Amino acid sequence: MDTIGDPHATAGRIDPVRWIESRAEIALFLDFDGTLVDVATRPEDVAPPPGLVELLDRLHHALGGALAIVSGRRIADLDRLLAPATFVAAGLHGSEYRTDRTEIVRPVALPIDPEVVTAVSRLERIFPGVRVEPKGATMAVHWREAPGVGEAVAAELVRILDGGSDHLELTGGRMVHEIHPRHVSEGAAVEILSGLVAFRGRRPVMIGDDVSDESGIAAAERAGGVGFRVRGETFGPDVADFASPRQVREWLSLLLSRIGS
Ligand SMILES: [Mg+2]
Repeated sequence: MDTIGDPHATAGRIDPVRWIESRAEIALFLDFDGTLVDVATRPEDVAPPPGLVELLDRLHHALGGALAIVSGRRIADLDRLLAPATFVAAGLHGSEYRTDRTEIVRPVALPIDPEVVTAVSRLERIFPGVRVEPKGATMAVHWREAPGVGEAVAAELVRILDGGSDHLELTGGRMVHEIHPRHVSEGAAVEILSGLVAFRGRRPVMIGDDVSDESGIAAAERAGGVGFRVRGETFGPDVADFASPRQVREWLSLLLSRIGS
């Protein structure tokens, strides 16, 4: 079994395990794919490992409710994967929110224009193996099954968005390109959710594995907290704090044992 933390860690980085020792009053912001669960070839094939839902539920209570999932997925999709539990969440990279476990989901962005959805969807025919996933306010263009076409797909997306979609932004990721409204970000999600009663006054801890999580990590650091990165195509061993989602889950279990449940 690997140890948590990276053997190639550079001086000055924060060790996740030592970090626990000194701080109990934290708020957790957790990305889902690639952070809590392994990335699957297709997002719909992801299966949460046994015990994950119970672990998150116990952490939610141990942290006084200060636990949120911050993901590129729809919150409804997270609910399906984490059933029967529901969590405070920002979905679609901050395009929708649920600020209480029992609340309804509130969108803060409009769905992407149908013409843009149509133009982007055509890329599936131009690039065999590319899969377009319209999600309402955001779209994901996956090229995991068509390695080598990432740059060409990005160029096409830039061309499509240049045709009058100033309010949309393109962000790269782990073998995926994401289109999302310019005014939403996971950083904004961390700031907004940090204002909730359960989260207020706690140090934010954001854990993520991809480009879209960087703004959440930066927001956590600005607020006096910390960000941890999970190794993958985006974060190599030189910057990753965790080698895998399994190590993140082990760390969360350790955290739970230290703060009580
Ligand atoms: Mg992720």
